Amino acid sequence: MNPTLQSFLHEQLDTLKAQHLYKPLLTVTSAPGARVTVDGREMINLASNNYLGLAGDERLRESAANAARQFGAGAGAVRPIIGNLKLHDDLEDTLAKFKGVEAVMVFQSGFTANAGTIPTITDADDAILSDELNHASIIDGCRLSKAKRMAYKHCDMDSLEDALKATQEAKKRLIITDGVFSMDGDIAPLDKICELADRYNAAVMVDDAHGSGVMGKNGRGTAYHFGVKDRVDIQLGTLSKAVGVVGGYIAGSAALKDFLTQRARPFLFSTGVPPAVAAACITAIEIMERDDSLTERLWDNTRYWQNGLKSLGFDTGVTQTPITPVIVGDEAKAQEFQKELRARDILALAIVFPTVARGKARIRSMPNASHSKADLDEALTAFAAAGKQLGLI
Ligand SMILES: *Cc1c(COP(=O)(O)O)cnc(C)c1O
Repeated sequence: MNPTLQSFLHEQLDTLKAQHLYKPLLTVTSAPGARVTVDGREMINLASNNYLGLAGDERLRESAANAARQFGAGAGAVRPIIGNLKLHDDLEDTLAKFKGVEAVMVFQSGFTANAGTIPTITDADDAILSDELNHASIIDGCRLSKAKRMAYKHCDMDSLEDALKATQEAKKRLIITDGVFSMDGDIAPLDKICELADRYNAAVMVDDAHGSGVMGKNGRGTAYHFGVKDRVDIQLGTLSKAVGVVGGYIAGSAALKDFLTQRARPFLFSTGVPPAVAAACITAIEIMERDDSLTERLWDNTRYWQNGLKSLGFDTGVTQTPITPVIVGDEAKAQEFQKELRARDILALAIVFPTVARGKARIRSMPNASHSKADLDEALTAFAAAGKQLGLI
């Protein structure tokens, strides 16, 4: 290893550790579910994005296994060469029907869907208006674009309007927002965003990674929750969270898909998802379309969990969704809280600066459809004990 590079790496690692920003990885040795085994201990899992419990679902495992047996382990080439599988087309058709849009384009992940789409549909004479708390993959997508970029204040429609007024000269404008914000669990005011977009002739793109499977009828997304599905130009969904597998997609017009097929770089230059992934995703979407009981179970567990925390005296911030912050404030205390929960076999992660503002440290907890009330009761007992020990309640 080159010594200059090696010493750079060590210096950077030392800095991260000194700033308490270094995070060791946990290793999971069980299937995903309400409880997972981590470092040999079974824990109640309140840290995953497996909202509907589909990641461990028998039906998805079965279709993944069958597809691997029948069609192999990998696609063997990028989709524009000879790696475009019938299963890819079927997944896109299934998603387009589920979302009620003209066309869907599947990417390898939600991250590559953002990184591939935003720079492809914007040029140097355009402007992108982005919520200041948008996800890292949106920020990276914007960085790859030549368009002028403006961040507006979080969910603040006056700030968005100011940005729209300041970019009147742009050829086209794209407003981008998360549908559900991953750290506070609040929802973007899509109805108001669409009104402003109409008034100022801007396109709207919603990253619904945390809205897919969670918001709207049968988990169709935040645009459906607000009844603005036909006004939102581009919906990004992930197949990695509620859908339980991996992948991302863009839902919109046929022309959008057609253009991305020709120009989006992660589509052109990176191999598509394997047969097992496409098949498991199709099964997941079919389950969600047929039956909204998993989504209902998720929301029922969410109400139970959040009411439980509130009646213990915890501050759960401004959440409107299953993402449930337990606001602690002090960074060191949040780390201590996480440790105390871990000692009680509860998995919920501390989120601290720079992911959230200084002094806004929290434990992020996420109930999902696979938890029983008994799981949640056990977790509440642990939160109460740890919270009392740290003087939080
Ligand atoms: C998780 C997430 C992504 C990335 O999705 P992956 O499929 O895991 O790559 C993109 N956007 C938002 C808002 C997310 O929360």
